[in-house]
Amino acid sequence: MTPPRTTREIRIGDVVIGGSQPVLLQSMCATKTTDVAATAQMATVLAEAGAGLVRVAVDTKRDAEALREIAAQTPARLSVDLHENHKLAGLVAPFVKKIRYNPGHLHHIDPNISWQDKVKRIADVAGEHGCALRIGVNCGSLDPAKASLDDGGIDTMPLLISTLEHAEFLDSLGFVNSCVSLKSSAPLMVIRANREFARRRPDVPIHLGLTEAGMPPEAVLKSRAALEPLLATGIGDTLRVSLTVPNDRKTEEIEAGRQILANVAAGDIMTPERLQLPRLNIISCPSCARVENGAFVELAETIREATRFATDFPVNIAVMGCRVNGPGETDKADLGIWCGATQANLKRGETLLGAFDYDQIVPKLLEELQRLMK
Ligand code: SF4
Repeated sequence: MTPPRTTREIRIGDVVIGGSQPVLLQSMCATKTTDVAATAQMATVLAEAGAGLVRVAVDTKRDAEALREIAAQTPARLSVDLHENHKLAGLVAPFVKKIRYNPGHLHHIDPNISWQDKVKRIADVAGEHGCALRIGVNCGSLDPAKASLDDGGIDTMPLLISTLEHAEFLDSLGFVNSCVSLKSSAPLMVIRANREFARRRPDVPIHLGLTEAGMPPEAVLKSRAALEPLLATGIGDTLRVSLTVPNDRKTEEIEAGRQILANVAAGDIMTPERLQLPRLNIISCPSCARVENGAFVELAETIREATRFATDFPVNIAVMGCRVNGPGETDKADLGIWCGATQANLKRGETLLGAFDYDQIVPKLLEELQRLMK
């Protein structure tokens, strides 16, 4: 029997999460937001598959203008991902039920304005339009002032401190229609960070997810190992299983989320200790509107096939779709690729080895892998 969840309830349009409400499944559009027809169609397909909330990335005014049309063309309950451009909050709020902001990305635009002023602006706009907020903290894109606290993959302090700080700041503004997420690509870190946050702030609803989980079936197993132990102890009010799959397979995120909830209900809990995966670990993002080259998902799949010969070699390879989380997440991997529009960047740890054309990047990666194996 799962312990009762005890957070406050928050309203996302016509649905309530938190408290004893059912866990809400989420997914995200991976189409270009300016492609209104494709994004509206994807949002509808995801909603029909069971996504109670569908996220759309908005980075520019053109994206924000497209969102108005998307909202008119889909019955999906929409959330917006405002990674960097806090100034767009006012343009998108009328068309969505929830706004996600990332504390680690508030420093890029208008560095002379404090993060507190930016969050206040977002909260004011959200309050005016009845939107919920999510403080979405991600290991791959931490606030630089907190990132230096990281010890390389297990310590949860940077994630935790950043989330607590923003939750307290929203409290100070009197904004309580909010939830948080603390994501990492390491299941153990997701468990530790969320447990500690829930211990310190049992009142705040939590959106669960393993970021950059990679491709199925490994990504589903890793997500199970991160999310099921938390849900089994009453932590988690919404969730997303992030999968690197082509757009026409995105509903697999919902199917995997539903399976996780069924496993928890049946008491069949995967844990990081029970997880049996190849020692060569591929971390890859689920792609979204920001992906800089449409070849990204295929590239991730090609890398998985090309590295099968090294399955037993303990190495982390990160494959990321854009510069948003790419540079940060590849810093922590042994080898990393993050995609640009015409070239892909290859890294060994924090060192950039170069930018290569898409038809050269896999052989270059394999050369580096062979070098590491020697
Ligand atoms: S790394 Fe970039 S493309 Fe991939 S999910 Fe994150 S923001 Fe989207």
